[in-house]
Amino acid sequence: MSGRTRAQACPERTCVGCRQRAARPGLLRVVVIEDRCVPDHRGTLPGRGAYLHPTPACLELAVRRRAFPRALRVQGPLDTGELRQVVGQTDRKT
Ligand SMILES: [Zn+2]
Repeated sequence: MSGRTRAQACPERTCVGCRQRAARPGLLRVVVIEDRCVPDHRGTLPGRGAYLHPTPACLELAVRRRAFPRALRVQGPLDTGELRQVVGQTDRKT
């Protein structure tokens, strides 16, 4: 955690997957509804939100780190099926 900045002009959020900061419009807001991670496309759903790059790689990282329960202050595990549909499947080419 580095110093806190109060730059309101360009709101940044941290991706719960790769932990990199990005401008809010570039991130997908995620809220939890009844143990399910739900994409909040319009940013209007109530409650605590987590932010994620809408990419399979970042979703995968977030799931592996159990970042959603931590970020959303809920007991895991959470169903991320809907998020997977939104960001697409991870390419597993080896
Ligand atoms: Zn990311």
